[in-house]
Amino acid sequence: MSKVHNYSAGPCILPNEVFKEAADSILNFNNLDLSLIEISHRSKDFVAVMEEARSLVREILDVPDDYEVLFLQGGASLGFLTAAYNMMGKNKTGGYLVTGSWAKKAAKEAKFMGHSVTLASSEDKNFNYIPKDYEVQSNLDYFHVTSNNTIFGTQIKDFYNGEVPLVCDMSSDIFSRKINITDFDLIYAGAQKNMGPAGTTLYIFKKEILGKSSVPIPTMLDLKTHADKDSMFNTPPVFPIYASMLTLRWLKNNGGVESIELKNQNKADLIYNEIDRNSLFSGTANKEDRSNMNATFALNNESDKDEFDQMLVDANISGLKGHRSVGGYRASMYNALPIESVQVLVDVMKELENKKA
Ligand code: PMP
Repeated sequence: MSKVHNYSAGPCILPNEVFKEAADSILNFNNLDLSLIEISHRSKDFVAVMEEARSLVREILDVPDDYEVLFLQGGASLGFLTAAYNMMGKNKTGGYLVTGSWAKKAAKEAKFMGHSVTLASSEDKNFNYIPKDYEVQSNLDYFHVTSNNTIFGTQIKDFYNGEVPLVCDMSSDIFSRKINITDFDLIYAGAQKNMGPAGTTLYIFKKEILGKSSVPIPTMLDLKTHADKDSMFNTPPVFPIYASMLTLRWLKNNGGVESIELKNQNKADLIYNEIDRNSLFSGTANKEDRSNMNATFALNNESDKDEFDQMLVDANISGLKGHRSVGGYRASMYNALPIESVQVLVDVMKELENKKA
C-alpha cells in the first residue's frame, strides 16, 4: 500500500500492480525488446490489447451482443457533443437532468446541432441533491443523465426506465457498481477515475443507434466511423488503453463489480458515519443522494481549518480539498482506494474532535 492516502478526484488512484506492469511495458512490452509506445497500433501485440480491453468491459459489465464497446478519445467533454450528434432524432431535441457542472456543460453542447431542454435542475441548491420530480416527454430524442456528480458528491441510485432512449455520462462511477446495461442506449465515460489514466474515453451503446441521427455528423464524432473499424479508425491512445486493460484485469481478478460495489459501500459507510457522528463536520449533499465515490463535507467552524489541514498533511492524506464551487473537503474513494486509507482519514477527524473537547 502506498504511504500517501490518495483522495484525488481524478486523475486518481489506480492499483499499484497496474503502475508496475505498465511501467515494465513502457520499457519492454511482451518481451519484444520494444516499448509499448513505440510499436504500431496495428501490430498484433497492440491489437490484442485493444481486443482484451473491449472484451473485459463486456465481461465485467455484462454487455449484451447487440451493444458496441469502443475506446475513443476527446474525454467526456467531447462525449457531450458526440452523444448529442449521434442521438439526435426527428425532433432534434435532447432532455437533460442538470445535476451539476458537467451535466450543464453536456446540455450546452446539444445546442450546437439541435435543442436541449432542462427537465429538472438542482442548481437552486448548488447541486446538493438529485431532482426526482420531473417528466420525460415522449417527444424527446433522448434523455441525458450524469450518474455521479464528481464535484458535488451526489449519485443517481435508480435510473430512468421509460420509452425515451437513455444516455449517461458515467465518467466518475463506471465499474464501481453493478448496472443494467440494457437500461441505457448510450454510455460514455472519461477513463481517469476507476478505469485508467486520462486519454481514452469509453463508449458503450446499442448498435441500433448507428446511422439513425437526423443531423450530419463529422467523421470523427460519428460512432459508426469507429464501430466499423473496431475502435481503430485512427491511431488510438495506446498507453491509456493498455493501462485501462490492466485495471480491468485487476478488477476482474478481484471479484468484478459485485465485489467492488460492496467494498465501495463499506468505504462510503465508514466516512459518512463519521461525518454524521462528528460534531465538527457536516455533509454537503442530501443524505439520500450521497455519492459512494465522492463524499463532500465541510467543517462547521472555519476556524478549525488550518489545524485540520495540517493534521491531514501529517497523516499523508492528499487530494482532499473540495472543488472551488463547493469548498470544504471531498473524499474521492475510487475503486483502488483501500478502506485502510478511509480509516486513516476517519481517525484524523476523530482526533480533531478530541482535541477540541
Ligand atoms: N463528466 C464527469 C462526471 C466528470 O467527472 C468529468 C471530469 N472529472 C467530466 C465529465 C469531464 O471529463 P473530461 O475531463 O474527460 O472531459
